Amino acid sequence: MKQGQELVGMSREELVSFVETMGEPAYRGRQIFAALQHRRLRSFDEMTDLPKELRTRLAEVARPATLTVESRYLSSDGTRRYLMKTHDGFPVETVFIPEERRDTICFSSQSGCPLQCTFCLTAQLGLLRSLTAGEIVEQIIIALNDAYGVGNQPPRGTNLVGMGAGEPFLNFDSLLKSLRVMADPQGLYIVPARVTISTAGIVPRILELARVTDRPHLAISLAAPTDELRNELMPINKRWPLEQLLKACKEFEKTLKPNERLTFEYVMLDGVNDSEEHARQLANLLNRHDLKAKVNLIPHNPAEPLPYHPSADETVDRFKDILESKGVHVYVRRPRGRDIFAACGQLAARQGTPININSIGA
Ligand code: SAH
Repeated sequence: MKQGQELVGMSREELVSFVETMGEPAYRGRQIFAALQHRRLRSFDEMTDLPKELRTRLAEVARPATLTVESRYLSSDGTRRYLMKTHDGFPVETVFIPEERRDTICFSSQSGCPLQCTFCLTAQLGLLRSLTAGEIVEQIIIALNDAYGVGNQPPRGTNLVGMGAGEPFLNFDSLLKSLRVMADPQGLYIVPARVTISTAGIVPRILELARVTDRPHLAISLAAPTDELRNELMPINKRWPLEQLLKACKEFEKTLKPNERLTFEYVMLDGVNDSEEHARQLANLLNRHDLKAKVNLIPHNPAEPLPYHPSADETVDRFKDILESKGVHVYVRRPRGRDIFAACGQLAARQGTPININSIGA
């Protein structure tokens, strides 16, 4: 595919400078920004408010969009999964989750993932490469265009979660850049307050994010209450063990807004991390660090060939009760899109029978 400057990851100011280097006036840069980010156009041909001659010159040096959609899958619960490809052939997955009052788009920060969490299918891909800011922004544009039609404003608010494939904090600069671009009121206008980023626990980046103004909310994937078990399930724990991780969380907590809370995600693995003792250890750990966090219990999503099973409902309830009895806020996350391999931990670039969502009037 033809190379060229990728425009969809550029801020409005950068696009202005870019067109100026082409000898064009600043307003053309703003026009292109609005075409990409507000009207969500993905080709220069559609930008009919630009002179044809400029569109031709742009096409020689730049690319408005670079991802292609390979397949789309529609879940019986309305969740949509997109399997896309980068211009150099790497898989990117995005999930659109409609909810009553708002929609959530779960985006990927990397193609594959370098972390080796034993319960997550993405780990099996290994790290293919980190995504550019443009490739992150484009995932949102593609999902919104598919759900609502090109350029149509979403009827409900859009929340973003950085919980797709990859470790967002190992692609920190591109991640923050994409969030700045998406926050522009002349563009997508999805502000960081509507975004939650999940990390497996890259401690230096947690501390760095705490210093960013206008930052997204933070979620931490915990999965175990002791170093012994966490080392086994999430090998990144050997690099940054629980004590260091929770100290960083405590630092981060100091920067939270009054009604903002840190989230801890805890995937429930039958017979592995879901005993009453684990629940007590988890509550004690959070309380010892005086963290006023919220815990999201996530029943394990089937991920053949991984050797895990979801905890029984009663086990999850019991676990929740114990945490609550010790003053911890708990929420049990309902799985979405399991039937199309769109749920947490299921993103492994799986192919299947693509469902043409246009043909069913969606
Ligand atoms: N690397 C980041 C972003 C991915 S978020 C992180 O680890 O936070 C993906 C979330 O899904 C994590 O909270 C992880 O614990 C959870 N998860 C992974 N595999 C899962 C599975 N098979 N079932 C349920 N949740 C899973």
